[in-house]
Amino acid sequence: MKNKVAVIGAGIAGISSAMYLAERGLSVKLFESANNIGGRMSSFADTEIGELLDLGQHIMIGAYVNFFNLLKKLGTKDLLYQQKKFKVRFLMNSDKIITFEQKFFNDNIGFILGLFLLKGVGLKSKFKMANLISKIIHQKIRKSGLSCQEFLLLHKQENDLIKLFWEPFIIATMNAQLNDAPADILINILYEIFSNGFSKAKIVIPKTELLNLISPVEKYLSDRNCELCLNHRLKRIEIRNGKVATLTINDFCYDDFDAVILAIPPDSLKQIGRLSNLNIFLELVNNFRTSSIITVYLWLDKEITTEKFIGLVDSPLHWLFNIKRISGEITEKHKLYKYAIVISSADKYAKLTREQTLQMCLDELMRFFPNFSTENVINWKVLNYKKATVLLTPQNLHFRATAVTEYENLFLAGDWTSTGLPATIEGAVRSGETAARCVINYLSMC
Ligand SMILES: Cc1cc2nc3c(=O)[nH]c(=O)nc-3n(C[C@H](O)[C@H](O)[C@H](O)COP(=O)(O)OP(=O)(O)OC[C@H]3O[C@@H](n4cnc5c(N)ncnc54)[C@H](O)[C@@H]3O)c2cc1C
Repeated sequence: MKNKVAVIGAGIAGISSAMYLAERGLSVKLFESANNIGGRMSSFADTEIGELLDLGQHIMIGAYVNFFNLLKKLGTKDLLYQQKKFKVRFLMNSDKIITFEQKFFNDNIGFILGLFLLKGVGLKSKFKMANLISKIIHQKIRKSGLSCQEFLLLHKQENDLIKLFWEPFIIATMNAQLNDAPADILINILYEIFSNGFSKAKIVIPKTELLNLISPVEKYLSDRNCELCLNHRLKRIEIRNGKVATLTINDFCYDDFDAVILAIPPDSLKQIGRLSNLNIFLELVNNFRTSSIITVYLWLDKEITTEKFIGLVDSPLHWLFNIKRISGEITEKHKLYKYAIVISSADKYAKLTREQTLQMCLDELMRFFPNFSTENVINWKVLNYKKATVLLTPQNLHFRATAVTEYENLFLAGDWTSTGLPATIEGAVRSGETAARCVINYLSMC
């Protein structure tokens, strides 16, 4: 008889676990409390706007190898826009633009040449950055328990490159300010990028809504005799003799699963812990706060930049995405230009109303784009995702959960678990595969 595995949560971590196990012939049921898959990496039909909208604009880099592999299996990898080589442009103000790109070569040398040819940055800063990156590549830097701010200071990084490179990079990848973000994660990311010849730094952006990337998963599972169950909420876990004995999902009690993966965020785990009297979960997740991300969608009657995406320096707004350019849909037919403006690590704007957030965006856009006026705005939507990611800090890194728990047939996955990566899509996918491997290992020993 096939082993039966329950995966709880059809975010990208749960999807990754379920696919991994289904491919290896296990009987998997993927339970999701919502009426759709994808969790935070998903989209919703906005009735006001009349469009499918992402819960937030997502950006990736070439290092998302496991995620790209997952999309390849689902047949949707082509729905990503991928840079040929790394290039990011920053607007300093309305008439100064700085381009940070690989020059001549598509590797680390191309990056170093790009760094030294960068305009508006001192030579000393460039040498210090090159020196730090060289130390990271050659693994000469030990894990330190420092924040990114302390780490950059220790390695004498200068303000111009902190503002232009380090700060945007750290805030975007870790959804945290420099004084919170853990340097040990930064080192891991940079090592992964640079030890692979910098090709993994290329920017990747979905050309379509996130839900379209993952929607074939239901068929993928059913083709392998596995099942996706939407609107199925795990309420309670009963432990007997150190193992999961039953799962209460909606109002039904299941007692026939050989192993269980919980691919849910800390908040949900806490709730289940409380209802199931599992103090271990409560202790574990109490170490994590969350950090918000704001996405402001604007529909304009004119194109204010032809860039696919651009960073805004010294602004509360971090990135502007030109959605029609990314999707390649710029034709005469499209009279409206859709933009997504992203503010990461946005807790300090929590008290702003949607209208105030919109106003802040419009003021900034007028400052950066003289050809923009509020009259160009045909429609708008402000999405403030309060619990976008866990806030990882040097203090809570070692509390990130491992896939294996003290209950022998219960495993954990999710972007917040111990992946060595920030709480991102790629971290979530890897955590899902790790938990699935642990399940297979456990079942092979039973
Ligand atoms: C606005 C925003 C912008 C982001 N930008 C980026 C970005 O640019 N790049 C990037 O890499 N990452 C980004 N992220 C982070 C990324 O989306 C997450 O890291 C990733 O989606 C987390 O996946 P997950 O499967 O671990 O968790 P989730 O997506 O949270 O999935 C958990 C699932 O479990 C379900 N669930 C919870 N409780 C139960 C229960 N009791 N029973 C059954 N089901 C349950 C939930 O409904 C959910 O579907 C962003 C996130 C947000 C919100």
